[in-house]
Amino acid sequence: MSTLDSGQKLRIGLPSKGRLSELAGDLLSQAGLGFRRQSRGLFARVSGLPIDLIFLRTDDIPTLCAEGAIDMGITGSDLLEESGVITKVRMKLGVGRCRLAICVPDDAELTSVADLDGKRIATSFPTITQRYLAKHDATAHLVSLSGSVEVMIQLGVADAIVDLVETGSTLAANRLRILEEIDSYETVLIQNSQCRDTETADRVVRRLEGVVIARDYSLLEYNVPRSKLTAAEEVTPGFNSPTVNTLEDQEWCSIRVMVKRGAVIDAMERLESLGASAIIETPISNCRL
Ligand code: AMP
Repeated sequence: MSTLDSGQKLRIGLPSKGRLSELAGDLLSQAGLGFRRQSRGLFARVSGLPIDLIFLRTDDIPTLCAEGAIDMGITGSDLLEESGVITKVRMKLGVGRCRLAICVPDDAELTSVADLDGKRIATSFPTITQRYLAKHDATAHLVSLSGSVEVMIQLGVADAIVDLVETGSTLAANRLRILEEIDSYETVLIQNSQCRDTETADRVVRRLEGVVIARDYSLLEYNVPRSKLTAAEEVTPGFNSPTVNTLEDQEWCSIRVMVKRGAVIDAMERLESLGASAIIETPISNCRL
């Protein structure tokens, strides 16, 4: 499909390229919102649902959603805040996590944001930076750029930068260190208040929730002596509550419970020391809770 339907189909804006493009496409596909995008195509149709996808610049998505050109959009919460527009965040998507930080040269004699008073700061986030400086009673000259901010100190354009940091490796490569962190951000699904089709929008949210929660949790199954059930439930309280079944041996019960993926190994060890056995972790690919 190369054009947009003029009807009342729900329009979702997706990043056309860049680091969120693949993340967003994978999430939609996993949630059963399959689409085929022709190379460099601007539009695609979701198979089996009244949804058009529009591929846009990630940083334009908040504005285009607020303006009503799209009903929903996937973008970074950093870009949403920087844009200053008001749209509802329907859900956090659990990907694209990053921090916005004030960074200075490794050897700079700067210890706090107050030391930036009168200095030059290069950033793609002038609005957020300005607000942060004002909150700390500092005034700086902002050099507003759309990219490659990390080299601006070497180029003599700035004394400090405000940029997104994920692992810190780009900072290390440019001999920079974090002076202060401004905030943390992640990829979000936003929605316009005048949405064309709220019913379909709610279906999209439910489908994405199923995948986002599943990515974060594993299913843990184990047998435990009934006398240790309370202690076991403290180790694995579950998303809502664990499912407990009685085994043929009445002294034992079998538990099925969702556990945060990062907490599984620790939970297994603690359960084992309580006397649990047959402890099995199964990854979940989708769920409805
Ligand atoms: P793009 O410029 O299209 O590659 O996307 C940039 C967006 O990806 C940012 O606005 C953030 O929301 C997100 N992101 C996540 N991690 C990082 C990172 N380490 N550096 C830059 N952007 C990141």
